[in-house]
Amino acid sequence: MKIKRQKQARSALNIYKHIFKFHEPYLVLADGTFCQAALKAKIQIKDHISKYLNTTVKCCTTRCVLAELELLGNEMHGAKMVAQRFQLRSCSHRNSPVPAAECLKSLIKDHESGRYFIATQDMALTKIAKTIPGVPVLYVFQSHIVLDKPSRATENHIKAVSKEKLSTSEAEKKSLKLMKEDANIIHGERTVKQGRKRKRAKGPNPLSCKKKKKTVSNKKTS
Ligand SMILES: [Zn+2]
Repeated sequence: MKIKRQKQARSALNIYKHIFKFHEPYLVLADGTFCQAALKAKIQIKDHISKYLNTTVKCCTTRCVLAELELLGNEMHGAKMVAQRFQLRSCSHRNSPVPAAECLKSLIKDHESGRYFIATQDMALTKIAKTIPGVPVLYVFQSHIVLDKPSRATENHIKAVSKEKLSTSEAEKKSLKLMKEDANIIHGERTVKQGRKRKRAKGPNPLSCKKKKKTVSNKKTS
């Protein structure tokens, strides 16, 4: 079961890598709900994801996430301690923090794909992340972190990209065919010209000229 889960996750990761140009270390943008769930499941977030995806990751969060956890008080104190160790990504709410979900939403929308993995247990935020192509979602399930399968928006984007590639290759084939035809015409002209040149170069047979001279001299002597 574990191997199957890892295989699925790694093939999804390949999609993000090749189609959406994600690169290591992958940035995992976590909110308080994710930190809380990981804490409850006794999961070391960074190590767990690194092993699970067989890659290097950098966990990060925002000031808005920390501010929200601060507001929630004791109940989320542990999650705040976890999130505080993460790298802070700058958001546009420095002077007036907004709810964590709104903040993370703005980050993934601003950077579109190829930037962040979203790590959350918040269903509303997950739903939003899934409407943007190329935003991988991580969540805690039982005692594991799971990389969600690519969303419909992501799949549609992949289909559109492959269609585009296909039509490009068809166009390339057509232009290649035209180029070949052009080359044949040029090549054909060249051979015709070369053939003519050769004929001209041959000219009159020099041996026949020699013979004629001999016969003339013979006649004179006789
Ligand atoms: Zn913010």
